[in-house]
Amino acid sequence: MRLEDLFHDTLKDIYFAERQILKALPKMAKAADDPKLKDGFMRHREETQGQVERLQQVFEIIGKRAQGKTCEAIQGLIEECDELLEEATEPGPVRDAGLIACGQAVEHYEMARYGALIAWGKALGNAEIVKLLEETLEQEKQADALLTQIAMPVNKLAKAA
Ligand code: FE
Ligand code: FE
Ligand code: ZN
Ligand code: FE
Repeated sequence: MRLEDLFHDTLKDIYFAERQILKALPKMAKAADDPKLKDGFMRHREETQGQVERLQQVFEIIGKRAQGKTCEAIQGLIEECDELLEEATEPGPVRDAGLIACGQAVEHYEMARYGALIAWGKALGNAEIVKLLEETLEQEKQADALLTQIAMPVNKLAKAA
């Protein structure tokens, strides 16, 4: 296997993952009680649409068809989120605290994948690809940072609940 192949496989993995996330975020927003959290999930959904488009551009640059490959990791993370919503049935700060943790697990997975793709894109000497992926990585980092911020008051309310 060449580094180009590893890059292509991982691109398919994150392409699959982003499209799953696109479906999961509205459910997470709907379940969120805190308006800032709801809004944060919905805004990130909009960003995610742009991220899918960037990935399609990367597929085009490497001369491959945009195609996903089942990502067990993202399926597992989304399943954990579904489990949380089954167990924490009451809307409120405790369920929100759990949703934030689920969201951050997803952002961290994405950061790990984009980090690897960027490093390989650099090694392969493709600046155009690196630039596209770095734009997305920055959005994932911001989404994670926003969740950390929202968590502070939510966790306090959760403790008092
Ligand atoms: Fe994403
Ligand atoms: Fe994956
Ligand atoms: Zn995977
Ligand atoms: Fe994200």
